[in-house]
Amino acid sequence: MTTRYVYNRRGRLVRSVTTRESSWTEQDRAEVLALALYRSQLCPCGCGQRYADTTSPEDTGPQFVASRKVCRARMTLLEAQQGAETNNAAIAGSRLWQVRTVRG
Ligand SMILES: [Zn+2]
Repeated sequence: MTTRYVYNRRGRLVRSVTTRESSWTEQDRAEVLALALYRSQLCPCGCGQRYADTTSPEDTGPQFVASRKVCRARMTLLEAQQGAETNNAAIAGSRLWQVRTVRG
């Protein structure tokens, strides 16, 4: 960290500029840029596939197969929310829910 002080003609401090060394390495920056590039190429619908693939012609592009799994954490959350329903919109809208892992 270095600080450069700038004085006016009368010797008064008018500005100080502090420069810190980045805690990010070149590798960190490259990985963040690569992640941003990857995410920018995803379909905006949320399917997790590449936009170029999801919008490709059906006869020349890749085929897709759907499958499903249950997120048990979300199921637990939804069940808890259903069990705590209230007609008070302020209470319902201001609740901060969280799900934590309980190891058996
Ligand atoms: Zn999509």
